[in-house]
Amino acid sequence: MRIDVLTLFPAMFQGPLTESILGRAREQKLLAIHCHDLRQWGIGRYKQIDDRPYGGGAGMVMRVDAVVPAVEAVMQGDRRVRGNQRNQGHPWKILLTPRGKRLTQTTVERLAKKKHLLLVCGHYEGVDQRVVDGGWIDEELSIGDYVLTGGELPAMVLIDAVARQIPGVLGKEESAAEESFSKSLKRKREYPHYTRPEVFRDLRVPDVLLGGHHKKIEEWRKKRTA
Ligand code: SAM
Repeated sequence: MRIDVLTLFPAMFQGPLTESILGRAREQKLLAIHCHDLRQWGIGRYKQIDDRPYGGGAGMVMRVDAVVPAVEAVMQGDRRVRGNQRNQGHPWKILLTPRGKRLTQTTVERLAKKKHLLLVCGHYEGVDQRVVDGGWIDEELSIGDYVLTGGELPAMVLIDAVARQIPGVLGKEESAAEESFSKSLKRKREYPHYTRPEVFRDLRVPDVLLGGHHKKIEEWRKKRTA
């Protein structure tokens, strides 16, 4: 899968996307992530990205004539966005916004089947609505009912959740098949886990997990799946 990100702060993605499971997935070429500085498409000498809102009010709005050319550059595989892997088909274009539909595991699984995602990170008051109304966005997504300063953290949350659904990204020991909100757990929360030591202070591992009786363990786990 290829994921392009349009952001005013590409440096924020260093770390979360280069370490651990995501870093390994990128090394193994299961996942290619390209973060592009939106400022490249800024207007005029000062590469302006935002402007005052029509109708008045506090804050600034990201300009349609900066964001749309950036989206089009990714869609067309422009040299500014080409990166080290060719575009893989038409990107599915997502705007991160608190106004969007709430991101769920079902949505994550659907997105993981796409070959190419394009994530647009808003900032300030958000993005001029014409970016959405003009058809440059396929889906608006929110990561929850609270407001963050920018779309970068939401984009990283989405990338992490989607990446671990890509075959090969998780090792066998980290399988995503039987996890909270998965189909096999009927979209419920997973049962609790324990490991050594058997007793910590006066806290004991439940007896049933120590007995080695697989059917009983399965029943216990089923009961504790909420
Ligand atoms: N004025 C907007 C509102 O009241 O809904 C909030 C804008 S927020 C300060 C700036 C940017 O952060 C948004 O354009 C969006 O890209 C991102 N953002 C903030 N919270 C988010 C959330 N819960 N889910 C997805 N994106 C979010």
